[in-house]
Amino acid sequence: MRIKTMDELFVETLKDIYYAEKHIVKALPDMVKKAHGGELKKALENLRSETKEQINRLEKAFEMLDVSPRARKCEAIEGILRESEEDMAAIEDEDVRDAGMIGSAQAIEHYEICRYGTLIEWAKDLGRNDVAALLGQSLEQEKNADKLLTQIARSTTNRLAAGGAAA
Ligand code: FE
Ligand code: FE
Repeated sequence: MRIKTMDELFVETLKDIYYAEKHIVKALPDMVKKAHGGELKKALENLRSETKEQINRLEKAFEMLDVSPRARKCEAIEGILRESEEDMAAIEDEDVRDAGMIGSAQAIEHYEICRYGTLIEWAKDLGRNDVAALLGQSLEQEKNADKLLTQIARSTTNRLAAGGAAA
């Protein structure tokens, strides 16, 4: 499709993150199942419930803009999720796999943080502070999830160092 205006670009990008969130929510149960550390398992479970909230928020945003909620294929998230699956299947050691999964989850979070960040600025530019505020709630959740994953990464690395599994 041809994108002519900022309004159209905004909606197309909203469809991109909508696609991404919908695929993330589908990928998470397998990640939860494969996570070894309790902290990581819990964080991924929490991510799943937050992702559902984020999907609802996006549907609300489409409604506020009077556009039907449609997803637009996001090649970026497909690639990130594919790498994540490949790593999970390739790594045998549980702690090493956890470290890989944390890295994948952070790659997901960072993609979302940049998308929401852009969308929020564009929404403000387009005079839609209401939509910006709504998306801001999701951005906060993504940022907090990323911070929590960094903390879990540290304890996982410590466990690896103690167990010598990295050798
Ligand atoms: Fe999300
Ligand atoms: Fe995308």
